[in-house]
Amino acid sequence: MSKNEKIRNVAIIAHVDHGKTTLVDAMLKQSHIFRDNEQVVERVMDSGDLERERGITILSKNTAISYNGFKINLIDTPGHADFGGEVERVLRMADGVLLLVDSAEGVMPQTKFVLRKALENKLKPIVVINKIDRPDSRIDEVADEVLELFMELDADDEQLDFETVYTAAKAGIAKKNIHDDSKDLKPLMDTIIKEIPAPEGDFDKPLQMVITTLEADDYVGKIAIGRVQRGKIKSGEIVALMSNGETKKAKIGKVYTYDGLNRVETAEAEMGEIVALTGLTEGSIGDTVADFENPEALPGIRVDEPTLSMTFGVNTSPFAGKEGQFVTSRHIRDRLFKEAQTNVALRVEETDSADVFKVSGRGELHLSILIETMRREGYEMQIGKPEVVYKMIDGKKYEPIENLTVEVPQEYMGTAMESLGRRKAEMVNMTEIAGYMRINFLIPARGLIGFRSELLTSTRGNGIMNHVFHSYEPYKGDIPGRSRGSLVAFEQGTTTGYGIFNLQDRGIMFIEPNQQVYEGMIVGENSREMDIDINPCKQKHVTNMRSSSSDEAIRLVPPRIMSLEQALEYINEDELVEVTPSSIRLRKAILDRNTRGRLAKNSRKVSD
Ligand code: GDP
Repeated sequence: MSKNEKIRNVAIIAHVDHGKTTLVDAMLKQSHIFRDNEQVVERVMDSGDLERERGITILSKNTAISYNGFKINLIDTPGHADFGGEVERVLRMADGVLLLVDSAEGVMPQTKFVLRKALENKLKPIVVINKIDRPDSRIDEVADEVLELFMELDADDEQLDFETVYTAAKAGIAKKNIHDDSKDLKPLMDTIIKEIPAPEGDFDKPLQMVITTLEADDYVGKIAIGRVQRGKIKSGEIVALMSNGETKKAKIGKVYTYDGLNRVETAEAEMGEIVALTGLTEGSIGDTVADFENPEALPGIRVDEPTLSMTFGVNTSPFAGKEGQFVTSRHIRDRLFKEAQTNVALRVEETDSADVFKVSGRGELHLSILIETMRREGYEMQIGKPEVVYKMIDGKKYEPIENLTVEVPQEYMGTAMESLGRRKAEMVNMTEIAGYMRINFLIPARGLIGFRSELLTSTRGNGIMNHVFHSYEPYKGDIPGRSRGSLVAFEQGTTTGYGIFNLQDRGIMFIEPNQQVYEGMIVGENSREMDIDINPCKQKHVTNMRSSSSDEAIRLVPPRIMSLEQALEYINEDELVEVTPSSIRLRKAILDRNTRGRLAKNSRKVSD
């Protein structure tokens, strides 16, 4: 074994807004003092508004900084542990981590899962306390909190002996001691070089590399990214592509390494480098790219099974095509199949209808992020009720069970337990850490639907959760769903304050005055079990001028506005969520009220 002394592979873990993007930007900007010809583009690592809003990073990206003849590969980590599989994968490329913490906010619970994984993988940590210029900074306290967290997460002695660097990323300054003078980030760079171990392995043995991430590129096709674990990889080389005991012959197109924000072509890359490869059209995540003559597989990467499905269909509402740009079945089909090439835990299938696709993924968040992303790209779709992926084993119905970890401040524990009880969760164990309860459960994947938003609301944003697939087990019995019917608009029109006012004692309204509605659109929740058709567009017969002013005096209860996740959890089997770039509407699958009425009558007869 030898070391690739010139390389450092470092993952960055940070809570959203703690300054990861600013820090990486500053490193890139200063690379002119480290080296001259670097091109700097603003805001690199962070790829979208969506990620920011939800406090997560979805796609992990690589950036490389040259410093004093060293190359530091910075690996972005998903800030959210719902992508547990992805976290594990990207951490496999790193030898160390930067834990970046805001000097006022301190460590946020959401980063714990990723940090725990990093510590379990024996990565060497460096703690970076950022925003030291903040007037409300609590630098010493935050440093203590970090140490406590490391102990809580069972860091080993070497990990507990971490170095701390203080930064003002915005000003591009780093210090080893808070009272030092500094003009740049060199103290941080030096610490990385000193503390993070260089990648270790054999340069001269046959090639081994595990595909960690895939990207789709419109020009060059599939790009496979990973770290060369052993030997060298050459452009144009014939390799063995090894997957689950099968070995195929494949040819590498080009080999790229990272330089700043760019990928640069290289003839050859050696052990320790992070590379992007073209040409491996059949490669999947977890496959080993190995020497053709002496193929030896590395342990694969477990990709979690999809456990939750939703239908994605062409929008058939009367408002279809008004708000979105991509609305046809062809558009949706192409987009979904393209996504499935790189989004590993995602499965896309055709259905009996050419206009409807079945999309299965790792849970509500996984699928709702795809829906949000498509929405922002200009797609319109209608989404069906989330269903778990059942399996029939020996004639019996089995369902996916997830291993759920919830962390809540003690005062919210009761509420969380109650909700999870309803959702058929069984507690496995419980530990208390500094005012927090960490509780492990086994829960049917069904029971998780809608739980995230409920947990966030009921704990005022202080609860966190994470789940990984556990097993398939015999069906656990019914989980009570919603017991109330829908209030359904009975014709197309514009809602009025008067119309809504007259209906609001029937239940909870989802709409405001002056909103466009259509026949079959769900505008509220009935306080009873049945669906009823109502007219929220009713006009008041204006007999004189004064009555219109009295109209303004009516008191409307604020409507319930649902997020995408809430809407998906809410709908019944015969309902859909209409998603467009500007709206989320709930609707009956069958819009025509006569047809719906007839079907309802028939089904009542059957059950009689
Ligand atoms: P990310 O979500 O972790 O990538 O965070 P950003 O890099 O986008 O930073 C979030 C916010 O914190 C931005 O408004 C930054 O300007 C601000 N910020 C970043 N670094 C510093 C710093 O050192 N001091 C102060 N005061 N603000 C900072």
